[in-house]
Amino acid sequence: MEKLISGIERFRNSSFEDRKKLFAELANGQSPEVLFITCSDSRIDPNLLTHTEPGDLFIIRNAGNIVPPHTRTAGGVTASIEFAVAALGVEHIVVCGHSDCGAMKGALNTGALTDLPHVHDWLDNTRAAVESVRARSGDDSGDTLSQVTEENVVLQLHHLRTHPAVLSKLATGNVELHGWVYDIEHGTIKAFDEESGQFVPAEERYAEFMNKQSAAKSA
Ligand SMILES: [Zn+2]
Repeated sequence: MEKLISGIERFRNSSFEDRKKLFAELANGQSPEVLFITCSDSRIDPNLLTHTEPGDLFIIRNAGNIVPPHTRTAGGVTASIEFAVAALGVEHIVVCGHSDCGAMKGALNTGALTDLPHVHDWLDNTRAAVESVRARSGDDSGDTLSQVTEENVVLQLHHLRTHPAVLSKLATGNVELHGWVYDIEHGTIKAFDEESGQFVPAEERYAEFMNKQSAAKSA
């Protein structure tokens, strides 16, 4: 805790001072372009890994970067998605899983979760990903954890489409969905390519966009 307390002062004296203009702009409102849904894991820093600033990302975090399918029961994830999409008008939604995810390990071994009944029940939202990977591989051979991590991201993208606020914006082309997996050790992102149904390096998935950016810069 000491690290946090001394950090508050250091933030006030350095990072905040450096961004005074930005924080003055943000003081009375936000208009983030992206809803970023990721795991609660302490090793993920969404702003750091996307090189973005406060105000850029509206963030939902939970164990396993899960989006429960829409129901009429109000939940924190559902309400936050609705607010981001319908009120803030985010243009992109990123579901970002990551390497070495404890939630995915738990989903692969639910028998070990008897003392964590809420975690056990929460991870039922990813059971379809686990079962689909198992059905495809026939056993637990290969890198099941990374396969389930990727499949879970794809599953949560499906769940997102069950949310009325998301589906209506998809219908009018006002929101775009992205599935990512972040590799903690290498600092890389793989992104889901809908055409091939595979995760590919983000540089490849967004090559067209990146070329446009660099052309604009050199123009
Ligand atoms: Zn995780």
